Amino acid sequence: MTNHLLALDFDGVICDGLAEYFQTTCYAYGELWPQAEQFLEGYREGFYAARPIIESGWEMPVMLRALVRGHSVQDILAHWPDRRTEILAEQTYDRAHFSQVVDAVRDRAIHEQLMDWLALHRFYPGVITQLQQWLTLPHVDLWIVSTKEGRFIAQLLEQAGVDLPRSQIIGKEIRQPKVVTLGQLRDRAPEHLISFVEDRLPPLQQASAIPELADVRLYLADWGYNTAAMRSQINGGAQIQLLSLEQFGQLIVPIA
Ligand SMILES: [Mg+2]
Repeated sequence: MTNHLLALDFDGVICDGLAEYFQTTCYAYGELWPQAEQFLEGYREGFYAARPIIESGWEMPVMLRALVRGHSVQDILAHWPDRRTEILAEQTYDRAHFSQVVDAVRDRAIHEQLMDWLALHRFYPGVITQLQQWLTLPHVDLWIVSTKEGRFIAQLLEQAGVDLPRSQIIGKEIRQPKVVTLGQLRDRAPEHLISFVEDRLPPLQQASAIPELADVRLYLADWGYNTAAMRSQINGGAQIQLLSLEQFGQLIVPIA
């Protein structure tokens, strides 16, 4: 029997947190730019559309700032590193401060309005049931590899009834790129067939460039935060494959 190790991204693979991102971002924005325009609801649609370019939570208020400044979604998607640098250059604080503000807003929402905060999240159809099923299989080792704080993920999975050990949730607190985590999982489980499911192309491309990860199956989740242009960058026959939500449940062929 083949042993499987599944390394799954969280946001955009398991959980759709767009509504929560937007709320958290608006609160963080109010703290970061208290003098600026605070009627932000009108930017929700643009925020959702440009979200695929975001890698880490600290960038979200920066992106909202770019939208408020009048940059189009198209411009942000095409020139995000430049726009991010321009906005950061005007601030007296760095990305670590942005990150602290975003996490503090989230922590406050969890402590003061837990049910409201949880209700802002949607799990993709069938995903929770699938995770629960995999957790019953002794030949499947399930891990979450995310740039979100692990404590937030643990809270959401617990609420959804997924009993994943906290030690198997690798979040932002580990402070290392996902490819480094994948390498550690590879070392830890040399006999396992490893699959990595992620909704952003860069971590998959980074993994595909590492010889030690050549046997890792890399999947871009087509239901997550990516655009048609991003999905079209996958070439047939390469290590990275496009995965549909339907195929997600077939990552591990059931033992007859
Ligand atoms: Mg993601």
